[in-house]
Amino acid sequence: MHLNHYIHSFGDQLKARYGCKVHKLALHAGFTCPNRDGSKGIGGCTFCNNASFSPNSRSQPNIVQQVTDGQKVVQLRTGAKKYLAYFQAYTNTYDEVDVLRHRYDSALQQHDVVGLSVGTRPDCVPDEVIELLSEYKAQGHEVWVELGLQSSNDATLERVNRGHGWREYEDAVRRLQQADISICTHLIVGLPGENELHVFASLRDALSLGTNGLKLHPLHVVKGSLLANQWRGGEYIPWSEERYVDIACELIRHTPPAICYHRVTATAARHILLAPVWCEKKWPVMNAITDNLARHGGQGAAIGMMEYSRGERRWN
Ligand code: SF4
Repeated sequence: MHLNHYIHSFGDQLKARYGCKVHKLALHAGFTCPNRDGSKGIGGCTFCNNASFSPNSRSQPNIVQQVTDGQKVVQLRTGAKKYLAYFQAYTNTYDEVDVLRHRYDSALQQHDVVGLSVGTRPDCVPDEVIELLSEYKAQGHEVWVELGLQSSNDATLERVNRGHGWREYEDAVRRLQQADISICTHLIVGLPGENELHVFASLRDALSLGTNGLKLHPLHVVKGSLLANQWRGGEYIPWSEERYVDIACELIRHTPPAICYHRVTATAARHILLAPVWCEKKWPVMNAITDNLARHGGQGAAIGMMEYSRGERRWN
């Protein structure tokens, strides 16, 4: 019993396209975040680990070294033959286009790197960045933009000090779609003030607008975050593993088979994770998701079983 029997995984999609295992190489390219430096907001998202924002975060990163080191580790661990440079940490479109080009080029010029996956905020995708990414696509590279929507509910986004709303996500998606650039939408399950209906609404909204991939993430309470204070004060209660698995599987069952899943859960490192403790280990959660999908149906199995009211976006 393997998870990939029940979902359309990004890994399988890449394997079909490139004829071998293709793996993401997570990179820290030295960018920061506009939700922390005052240009979009201050303080950052309430779940963000403040301690991770070192004053040196904008120093010149050695991307070539990160790629070559990462390839050795990932090749040994997974048998991958090709790689996607995954610009993961913070907001990877938040700089001058020339700086972005230099850093993306540094990764793309390395052996066996077939493309880019760029993680960013919906309010940080200006047309110049889309033009740059379109150039890479025209050169034959695989190009993805990973957009952190987290929730489609503006009240939730405000509650977690996200610094953008649904409108910015909608605008970024429409412009990326016009440029035919693939989008992976990130959703967080268990945000303060949300229940299962809110999470379903976020999936429904992302699907209604159109996306190519999805990433699901349980909310972690990490050291150095504002959420940690709320958790300590009893204002925020993390979701149980069972609750997460149930909703994640329902989301997967309501997702059309054409959309690929880049991730269905996520872990946090032990040294920063405060709660929930089950987010420390990946495999028990993955196994529980696989088991649930095997018993109740895999990706797409529940499409049509729930009314899909496209006009009504609010669940407040
Ligand atoms: S979670 Fe992401 S968008 Fe929010 S403050 Fe941290 S780096 Fe910025």
